[in-house]
Amino acid sequence: MVWEQRYHPLREEWIIVAAHRQNRPWTGEEVTGKDENIPDYDPDCYLCPGNIRASGVQNPDYEQTHVFDNDYGCVSFNAPQVHQEEPGVYQRKPAHGFARVVCYHPKHNLTLSELSINEIVTLAKVWQQQYRELSSHPKINHVLIFENKGELVGVSNPHPHCQIYATNFVFKFIETEARVCQQYYIKKNRILFQDIIKAEQKETSRIICENDSAIAFIPYFARYAYEVFVAPKETHLSIANLSSKELIDFAEILKRILIKFDNLWQMPFPYVMPLHQAPTDGKDYSSFHFHIEFHPPLRKPNLLKYLAGPEIGGGNFLSDTSPDEKAKELRELPDVHFSANGR
Ligand SMILES: [Zn+2]
Repeated sequence: MVWEQRYHPLREEWIIVAAHRQNRPWTGEEVTGKDENIPDYDPDCYLCPGNIRASGVQNPDYEQTHVFDNDYGCVSFNAPQVHQEEPGVYQRKPAHGFARVVCYHPKHNLTLSELSINEIVTLAKVWQQQYRELSSHPKINHVLIFENKGELVGVSNPHPHCQIYATNFVFKFIETEARVCQQYYIKKNRILFQDIIKAEQKETSRIICENDSAIAFIPYFARYAYEVFVAPKETHLSIANLSSKELIDFAEILKRILIKFDNLWQMPFPYVMPLHQAPTDGKDYSSFHFHIEFHPPLRKPNLLKYLAGPEIGGGNFLSDTSPDEKAKELRELPDVHFSANGR
């Protein structure tokens, strides 16, 4: 039985680890993975090649990836100007920026885990290009690239895609992470994320896989059962700074993790996958270490990790699982996708 608090150095918060709770009796609703026969083209999908979106724009017959401005973006340069000097306690600012969608592949029924390493590298190059282009805009202070996958995280369209929010503000977690990384560097003259990688490499039990320049692990301070970090071993501000060799290594490790996720319960594994990249507001972020984080909502087959009293009410995560055990579970899974689509 474990009762302990573990510090999450990138978020400045404590995680309460109570791993014995994983097997407590459960009589609530279970989430079942759907086994649908999804076609490789859906005439009603707004992401499939050649289809006309609700805005009236027709998608091109793209053959690899396709990037377009989100017809229903949460930020825009059309945002109305608002008065910033408010007399009272409440403040407001315009939410300016670009909201884009990146289709990973023309095929409607593929997932990122089923793309070949070459196709993932092609996608990663689109992420690089988008980060460079959007960050060069004078009003863009941060580029958030993320994929929400699965109905459990609110995505009903299976067509493989991610979103980009390039904004005039820096999202909260990235702002905290950038600040603590800089403070750590000033205090210790070392890169915080490098020290995290070193600690994981010393203990080894939470590493899932690694190659020359990339590594994947469930961190000591994981909040979700299968919270995997995928990172280059060298410190880079963003994915745009990875060399061609690093990009291939990174894609290879990313694909292995995605396949293991799907193999875990033989179903498309739902997750929220943000790329953590340095803000682009012109300040010094040389201590920031680009990486991808997976936040999967399931903790057991068909069983959601509910965010409730401790997490939403109190602000600290209660982890029901041991990161070491979950890393072992993923490590031992095959590197070949269970489905026939796996390439
Ligand atoms: Zn589609």
